[in-house]
Amino acid sequence: MKKDIRELSLADIEATLAGWGEPKFRAKQLFEWLWAKKCTDIDAMSNLSKALRTRLKETFTLHTIQEDQIQHSADGTIKSRWFTHEGYKIESVLIPVPDDERFTVCVSTQVGCSLTCKFCATGRMGRKRNLTAGEIVDQVNLVNAQSIQTFGKPITNVVYMGMGEPLLNYADTLESVHRLTDPEPLGLGMSARRLTVSTAGIAKMIRKLADDGFRSNLALSLHAADDAKRNEIMPINETNNLKALMEALEYFYMKTKGRISYEYIAFERFNDSIEDARKLVQLCRRKFPVRVNIIEYNPIDGSPFTKSGEERLNAFGAYLADEGVTVTVRRSRGKDIDAACGQLANK
Ligand code: SF4
Repeated sequence: MKKDIRELSLADIEATLAGWGEPKFRAKQLFEWLWAKKCTDIDAMSNLSKALRTRLKETFTLHTIQEDQIQHSADGTIKSRWFTHEGYKIESVLIPVPDDERFTVCVSTQVGCSLTCKFCATGRMGRKRNLTAGEIVDQVNLVNAQSIQTFGKPITNVVYMGMGEPLLNYADTLESVHRLTDPEPLGLGMSARRLTVSTAGIAKMIRKLADDGFRSNLALSLHAADDAKRNEIMPINETNNLKALMEALEYFYMKTKGRISYEYIAFERFNDSIEDARKLVQLCRRKFPVRVNIIEYNPIDGSPFTKSGEERLNAFGAYLADEGVTVTVRRSRGKDIDAACGQLANK
């Protein structure tokens, strides 16, 4: 099967073209077409010879995503559904906060997800395939155009919190981060600190990110502060327990000094007691600074969980704040169009 050319790093392309007898600068020219110029037609790459373009087309594919459906929420959030070349559906969400000049795009990294977190609609779909780096960057480019058209502003932040587990599509996730943050002409020149990759918690891959020079922010989808509860809602915790995750995060911080956050969805009477908050405080007193984002739950069909009541949520947040934890309670956006956290499932 042919590989998509936008899965290749610059080093991969240099090696391929060198093997074809092309000069080294040719790889950079091709890379610039693919990423900085966002060109999706090999025939339009006018400074490459016809023979080279033909060989590239014979060897590689170049698949982009296409618009399927756009939904607007009453709160300004926009959910976009795209289809891949073979007809799979994936979703991205634009979350505008105009008062803050913040326009965030939430991107997907896989078609579906293999991790079966109990509160998540995507997890029920199973994993169909990984997205290519190109398909991840396409989401950013398309939503950026949408943001400019709707709000007159480009996107300012990218969060990898849509469908899929980014660290189980490691190479393409990292390649897409590079293409978004590398300076032109090799990338789009976004600030690395404007990107956040989230993970359900795969200790080995968190360490690998640190070893591979990752410079963006990392969010751990924590959702429970002890192993018994976390095992109940996130099966990945059975092989990546909290001790392993905390050690991996310490390693990540030691090597990168990158920003770390815990995402914590509050479920009524499951993880929102003061005892739960006390355990969470312990996880905030490790060898790295961390901020906690408490997220309102958006129930999905058939889920045993409901969202925490206002009073419990406030008491939980207040306990953390009193203990000196940097904490934000996030109200959900885009609930009316199933665009909120854990709701992406191609409805
Ligand atoms: S919460 Fe994230 S990791 Fe868990 S099933 Fe959903 S998409 Fe996958």
